Amino acid sequence: MLGKFLDKFLDENLQGLQDQGLFNEIDVVEGANGPIIQIRGKELINLSSNNYLGLATDERLKRIAVDAVQEYGVGAGAVRTINGTLDLHVELERKLAEFKGTEAAISYQSGFNCNMAAISAVMDKHDAILSDQLNHASIIDGCRLSKAKIIAYNHSDMDDLKRKAEEAVKSGQYKKVMIITDGVFSMDGDIAKLPEIIEIAKEYDLITYVDDAHGSGVTGKGKGTVKHFGLEKEVDFQIGTLSKAVGVVGGYVAGKKNLIYWLKVRSRPFLFSTALTPADVAATTAAIQLITNSTELVDRLWENGNYLKGGLKNLGFNIGNSETPITPCIIGDEKLTQQFSKRLIEEGVYAKSIVFPTVPKGTGRVRNMPTAAHTKEMLDAAITVYEKVGKELGVI
Ligand code: PMP
Repeated sequence: MLGKFLDKFLDENLQGLQDQGLFNEIDVVEGANGPIIQIRGKELINLSSNNYLGLATDERLKRIAVDAVQEYGVGAGAVRTINGTLDLHVELERKLAEFKGTEAAISYQSGFNCNMAAISAVMDKHDAILSDQLNHASIIDGCRLSKAKIIAYNHSDMDDLKRKAEEAVKSGQYKKVMIITDGVFSMDGDIAKLPEIIEIAKEYDLITYVDDAHGSGVTGKGKGTVKHFGLEKEVDFQIGTLSKAVGVVGGYVAGKKNLIYWLKVRSRPFLFSTALTPADVAATTAAIQLITNSTELVDRLWENGNYLKGGLKNLGFNIGNSETPITPCIIGDEKLTQQFSKRLIEEGVYAKSIVFPTVPKGTGRVRNMPTAAHTKEMLDAAITVYEKVGKELGVI
């Protein structure tokens, strides 16, 4: 009988979402998530994935994953601390530490999981976290789980951060204070001001935590935003995902030996959730090796990003202040943004709209994610569609 309260809750809330136009049907990709995808039987130029380097469908990685399945099977069989730690996991973590220029690394089942795990393993109710207002949802949830006081600072506003850091430290209320930031902000493509953040952290003795989900494999010649600024020795927590540029799935923390050891004995998803599968780990390790060995894919990604940005800008679109290949096309009005994206998709370009509450009201945008796997012809075709739809809807 209790079910009726659940039914009422769902009916009311789902209707609310529908009324606000926030109820998105999920599109189903029929086949691989490459530069061209098929949805509802139609082929589309894909400008919405995070598969920055095209590695999700890389033939070399596919073979390595298949080989790992043959040798190790499809599952790790247990959590890491029982007997789910395969030699493959140890090798991946060694590679990750090398990749990030740290003493050690620990892997998790996803980037989301990693933030939930790492923040709550170190911070507690006696602590405070200074968090950029635009940080990713998984950071926000990790902070909440830790029960630390969350102090949001205005996006990349170093004066605001400094003021709030000083206030928190001088209040004497907190045992530890941490600064957390995305390395690359996914909705605008801007890069965190890490040198200034580190300066503030040094001045007030703060812990530093950088989630570079969108930077690893992209900035710093592929090695990420911390490397881009040469701050490997200064940042305490280097977080990354293995699902975007790396093309597979998983997340990690790279840092000092003691920190990683602590996470291995205290972070709950590591202790209580089954380890990444052999295929995922083997493919990931190989992907990191590919990114380390050559900047060819990273260079192509940037070339494609700059090409698309240039094309859209020349047409008169507002592409914001992205410093990375992420190419937002800012439309403003939410309804118009959704209509714009719908028309793009009808015309063969899969670029999704992103509106409030993911971005502030009045800054609705279509976000384009060019990858190394796109050809110039694909990008030209996308730009042509943008021109047509832009003129049709009066955006340009
Ligand atoms: N952190 C940030 C900054 C992200 O953008 C994302 C992915 N959207 C995540 C963490 C989560 O990563 P994953 O998809 O591996 O769970």
